[in-house]
Amino acid sequence: MQEKIIVTGGCGYIGSHTVITLINHNYEVVILDDLSNSNVQILDRIEKITGVRPHFEQVDLKSSEATQAVFKTHKDAKAVIHFAAHKAVAESIQNPLMYYQNNLFSLINTLKAQQDNGINHLIFSSSATVYGNPSTMPITEDAPTQRSFSPYGNTKKIAEEILEDFTNSQSEISVISLRYFNPIGAHESGQIGEFPTGIPNNLMPYITQTAAGVREKLMVFGNDYPTKDGTPIRDYIHVVDLADAHLKALQRLLDPSSTQPLEVFNLGTGKGYSVLEMIKAFEAVSGSPLNYEITERRPGDVPEMFASTALAKQVLNWEATRGLQEMIQSSWTWEQNLRNEL
Ligand code: NAD
Ligand code: UDP
Repeated sequence: MQEKIIVTGGCGYIGSHTVITLINHNYEVVILDDLSNSNVQILDRIEKITGVRPHFEQVDLKSSEATQAVFKTHKDAKAVIHFAAHKAVAESIQNPLMYYQNNLFSLINTLKAQQDNGINHLIFSSSATVYGNPSTMPITEDAPTQRSFSPYGNTKKIAEEILEDFTNSQSEISVISLRYFNPIGAHESGQIGEFPTGIPNNLMPYITQTAAGVREKLMVFGNDYPTKDGTPIRDYIHVVDLADAHLKALQRLLDPSSTQPLEVFNLGTGKGYSVLEMIKAFEAVSGSPLNYEITERRPGDVPEMFASTALAKQVLNWEATRGLQEMIQSSWTWEQNLRNEL
């Protein structure tokens, strides 16, 4: 067994896939999650897939007392991967304080508890949303960050500023912040995947739910953008590729020869697909036409986002290996399995 790693938000979509990768590489995993957007049954599925049941503590990281107590119990951990956050853009516009409170207090409490317990490495879940509406493609990590359209996006920008100030202030704790582009897909077992509560905000779960008959039709938010077919372009990345990138980032942080206090990496494939291309690719996978309609633009959407992947490749020795067909097929298999279970 290798080092003990604390994974906050480890019951969620990206966290659960990362926990599987960590267990498969013999790390001892402790999940901290308040189950506000996940289900404890994920532990059974992780155990079924890996043969190991991760240790689980139900804890709300907004509470500094609860965070301190649980970190004290696990002060032998070597690193933290901090996924815990609320992530629904529309909800954050309705309820900004809930987002600033949850996403920023959780981060601050985690950093303080790490400091107090000598746990000196952190991987943070950031987002490409910190780039706002960038002027050049592909987006490199040195592109300026911008105030986000949504309070959710802004929590990521502020969190990165907190991490910068924090790592500047002392030399003990080193941090890698990973800016995810558009995570989709599911584990190859078909046992775990994204399970949005309520109406999905994101394109992929909206597509699969429409095909499964849960939603009547997909609304395509605008076809008058300055792109090849008028619909916005995004860099979709397989969640298992993301999980692999967390492993590489962890290995880098734990390598005694690493000396950088704070590093930032894009996690994308470097390829952009439009909404209409995603629909066509889905139709090819499912073998059936998807019911969709072009409607108004969604406020805050930008025309085009895709990552420069050079830095992650050079420094982390990581690049995405799973293509669009595999991403979509795994999302669709997961959706169908889910509907059979419900
Ligand atoms: P998710 O909602 O599936 O997982 C987040 C987990 O954190 C959930 O299990 C939830 O119960 C838990 N959580 C939330 N607040 C908590 C708190 N106060 N204390 C303890 N646990 C708490 O989300 P995800 O898609 O897996 O995203 C993981 C991280 O990646 C988040 O920080 C998110 O902002 C970031 N991110 C996600 C995407 C995406 O499209 N999914 C894109 C960019 C960044
Ligand atoms: N999108 C859409 N209909 C939906 C959801 C999303 O047309 O029901 C579009 C959206 O306008 C964007 C792309 O799909 O161009 C990806 O949206 P998502 O919310 O998944 O990711 P993000 O906006 O964070 O890039």
